[in-house]
Amino acid sequence: MRSLQTEIEQSGARIFELVDRHPEPLFSKAGFYQRLMALSMRDERFKVQMFRFVDVLPSLRSSGDIVQHLDEYFADMRNGFAPLVRTGVRAAKIVPWISGQLLRWNVSGMARQFIAGKNPSDVMKTLRKRREQKIGFTVDLLGEAVVSEKETDEYAARCLELLEHLARETDGWSDPLDAGADLFPVVNLSVKISALYSQINPADPADAIAHLAPKLRPILRRAKELRAFINFDMESFSHKNITLDLFKRLFAEPEFRDWPHAGIVIQAYLRDAEKDLVDLIDWGRARRTRFAVRIVKGAYWDYEKIKSTQNGWSIPVYLQKPESDANFEALSRVLLENESIVTAAFGSHNVRSIAHAQALADELGIDRTRFEFQLLYGMAGPVKRALVELGYRVREYCPVGELLPGMSYLVRRLLENTSNEGFLRAKFSENVSEEQLLRNPCELLRESRNGASPRSTTATTNSMKNRHLPHGDSREAPPGDTYKNAPLTNFSEQANQDKMRAALREMRTRLGKEYPLVINGQKLSTGKTIASINPSSPDEVVGAVAEAGIAEAEQAVKAARDAFEKSRWTPFEERAQLLERAAAIMDRRRFELSALEVFEVGKPWTEADGDIREAIDFCLFYAQQMRRIGRPRLTQHVPGEESYYHYWPRGVAFVIAPWNFPLAILCGMTTAALVTGNAVIMKPAEQSAVCGAMLMEIFEEAGVPPGVLNYLPCKGSVIGAHLVDHKDVDLIAFTGSREVGLKIWESAGITRPGQRELKRVICEMGGKNAVIIDSDADLDEAIVDSIYSAFGYQGQKCSALSRLIVLEENYDRVMERLLSAAASLRVGNPEEPGMTVGPVIDKTAYERILDYIEIGKSEATVAFQHQNAPPKGYFIPPTIFVDVKPDMRIAREEIFGPVLSILKVRDLDEAIKIANSTDYALTAGFFSRSPANIERAKAEIEAGNVYINRSCTGAVVGRHPFGGFKMSGGGTKAGGEDYLLQFVVPRVVTENITRHGFAPEETPLYRDEFRVRR
Ligand SMILES: Cc1cc2nc3c(=O)[nH]c(=O)nc-3n(C[C@H](O)[C@H](O)[C@H](O)COP(=O)(O)OP(=O)(O)OC[C@H]3O[C@@H](n4cnc5c(N)ncnc54)[C@H](O)[C@@H]3O)c2cc1C
Repeated sequence: MRSLQTEIEQSGARIFELVDRHPEPLFSKAGFYQRLMALSMRDERFKVQMFRFVDVLPSLRSSGDIVQHLDEYFADMRNGFAPLVRTGVRAAKIVPWISGQLLRWNVSGMARQFIAGKNPSDVMKTLRKRREQKIGFTVDLLGEAVVSEKETDEYAARCLELLEHLARETDGWSDPLDAGADLFPVVNLSVKISALYSQINPADPADAIAHLAPKLRPILRRAKELRAFINFDMESFSHKNITLDLFKRLFAEPEFRDWPHAGIVIQAYLRDAEKDLVDLIDWGRARRTRFAVRIVKGAYWDYEKIKSTQNGWSIPVYLQKPESDANFEALSRVLLENESIVTAAFGSHNVRSIAHAQALADELGIDRTRFEFQLLYGMAGPVKRALVELGYRVREYCPVGELLPGMSYLVRRLLENTSNEGFLRAKFSENVSEEQLLRNPCELLRESRNGASPRSTTATTNSMKNRHLPHGDSREAPPGDTYKNAPLTNFSEQANQDKMRAALREMRTRLGKEYPLVINGQKLSTGKTIASINPSSPDEVVGAVAEAGIAEAEQAVKAARDAFEKSRWTPFEERAQLLERAAAIMDRRRFELSALEVFEVGKPWTEADGDIREAIDFCLFYAQQMRRIGRPRLTQHVPGEESYYHYWPRGVAFVIAPWNFPLAILCGMTTAALVTGNAVIMKPAEQSAVCGAMLMEIFEEAGVPPGVLNYLPCKGSVIGAHLVDHKDVDLIAFTGSREVGLKIWESAGITRPGQRELKRVICEMGGKNAVIIDSDADLDEAIVDSIYSAFGYQGQKCSALSRLIVLEENYDRVMERLLSAAASLRVGNPEEPGMTVGPVIDKTAYERILDYIEIGKSEATVAFQHQNAPPKGYFIPPTIFVDVKPDMRIAREEIFGPVLSILKVRDLDEAIKIANSTDYALTAGFFSRSPANIERAKAEIEAGNVYINRSCTGAVVGRHPFGGFKMSGGGTKAGGEDYLLQFVVPRVVTENITRHGFAPEETPLYRDEFRVRR
């Protein structure tokens, strides 16, 4: 008996023979495309610019704009394309209309290579042609990037319309193979689940399914009546489990249980693909009705890698191409071995993957009419033809839609076709040998494990190339790279959802507990308490913390002062380790702390988790920074003398924190003070005093010495002010409102009798943050990110967006999508994971924000106000004002709530002028695809943190050191390299080391700390 490998080689050779009879370059269209693609494959930077240009082009309206963008993207290229562009641009400036149209026409041509038709009737031309070639179809509606429920309704309606149209137009069509028509209906629709619900939250699969199922049922019902087939496509990993669950639930419903014409996709690049497939098959067997599975390798490989790396998650996809190939083969076997219940579809252009399926089917005695090969429209034409000639069932995946919504699809295809790792490039562009292309991926993996390079059959690894940038710069690690951030919790994992629910249940049993002050290691009650309440349900007391008065404040200062005199000499390494122990405890208690934040400050799950992550990061990052600056460092190499630069702590630090990042900000300021050797009095915000008590508990468990950290919840206006003025307080670290911040700044400037030090004030205040949407911005991103920036955590982040500045050219399009996206937001109690907008912090805030809404109504026009805010609790409906002018109060004053002002401007000059026109300079954002405009924004926008093409909230420690200037703060950057320097005084110790003309030749660059041993 011949081995499977031999059979695969034979099958593969047969396909190649037929393919080579009708040779075709990688890109079937001649000329322009081929040159562009060839260049893209040679020049990585050109490829990036080229794909970005293709991406922006459909949204450019005037020819002048097109020419301008062409110039910006390509003029400084150093390759053969640049002179062409320069000549083109010169000509275009004379006749922009002709050149703009020409470019658009060319790019549309490129898109038409992958998009089978503009609309249902247009696509029929393609489908009829394919019918003649004995190729079936599955149609996919482009436009999956929905931002609102209005858009999802439109998508669902278009699906239905498409189904009707296809059924009507294909009436009387027979099976291309005249066999197995019962398994393979002619009409086949591929559906993108994410296009049917705009608020999918991976943490809340139940909510997603509850919204998706009613949208899908009418489509399924109609498909069943029309004898059509419906396939659920698979998208990003975060949607995978929802898609699988939805599929299983819907098709187990009595109405659809006996219907065999449903299919779903499994992506072989996912490490858990085989488990998912086996689960599906078990489900199918229990259901007892046939269903179909298309296996593919997966179209979001780059995205999954980037996203997981950014969030510190384990990467769900395989990292070596042969691993995906090998897994595809393993899945092929599982599928074919279960042919009795599941119909297999192999979605691949890779002849090795295809030949493997063929050989396996032969080995298992499965007739070739009972499974199918599916390939994408516009790709691998010769392979399709060969498969048909060999008598296999072939179906083409045909995207339908306009160019603009089709852009992300087009870019995915271009990436795939030019990928170093891709089969098509290897076969049709690089002419890799047949033998190499048909090698067993498992063998390649074995070779790579044995030390050979991890090359795939097709790949030349580009990791080395990437170290050098096109201009010859080398990619050196930036300073922040030495720090690896703590991961976010991945709530798409069921285990994490379960842990969070359990933590919420457990926390509920602890509500109402009392928490003492902690001074000098002693737990104290005062007879007075501050009640911290749940803003979602104000009659619920989260906890009662002892309230400090003047006497306790004095006690705390004395304890801190005494402790400081001893603890200032602790080695920095011990202090760094204290922070690391605290981080480990927070990590252990992570879900418990998140649950507390949900109750105490109304944070949605992911926001609460982000806060705990940030607190952990502050501990670990500042520990690392302290090790960097802790040892005395030689200033210069000078013979005979050594001078060492080092830092002393300042003394007693008074930390005053806000409630909006109840753990992170309190922890950040406190740990910076502790690790630099100061003693700390920690005052949490009254609204989040229980979170403060938790932080104290954590530090006690971590082993902070008595008096070095004291927990003093109190009324800011009286006791806080008393401590700010205290002669024995040397440093005040404050984050909060401008009003209080400025008072502290002023008051701390007055020297009190007996005061030793000039007080250092670290002051972070508010913002009136602006985001500008340029005329060429990608609205799919700009809308989603603006909504999140404005309404995430109810607009109560100091970084939140409150002024959206829109260029008039884009205004109507932006507003239409923005308002419907805002209307789709879920507002409610954040104990439910799918809520985006929860309550504002307390009654005072609630009333103040409502007052601002009234002010807004008198100054401008309400364009939108959410209708479904719960009546109980401090829920403010997200509100959007238009006709806002820069001098109005709602455009100048910080509101700190879910209220967004829209300002319409003529051009970018005016936009930047308005963005810079407030007293504040904290965060800002800019959405644009014009390289020149992006450069302008980078240079000119006045803000401590400027974000381009992303949300203006969500700074990550070490990655985005955070803080503003003007009336937003003193310019220090929390989570940045310079931050600890605010908490220390620098000192230089110089010693003459010459004795009678003799001096050591070498002085070490670093020396041990100067220590007082008592
Ligand atoms: C009909 C059809 C329907 C499809 N439907 C879907 C769908 O619903 N969802 C979806 O996600 N995709 C879908 N795809 C796309 C598919 O996932 C692949 O991206 C595409 O077909 C390329 O795979 P290949 O086998 O043809 O080519 P190959 O060149 O053999 O494989 C390329 C693929 O290998 C993987 N890969 C690349 N580099 C690496 C690496 N370093 N380590 C590990 N893996 C790597 C990637 O998945 C990449 O797309 C579909 C494809 C077809 C043909």
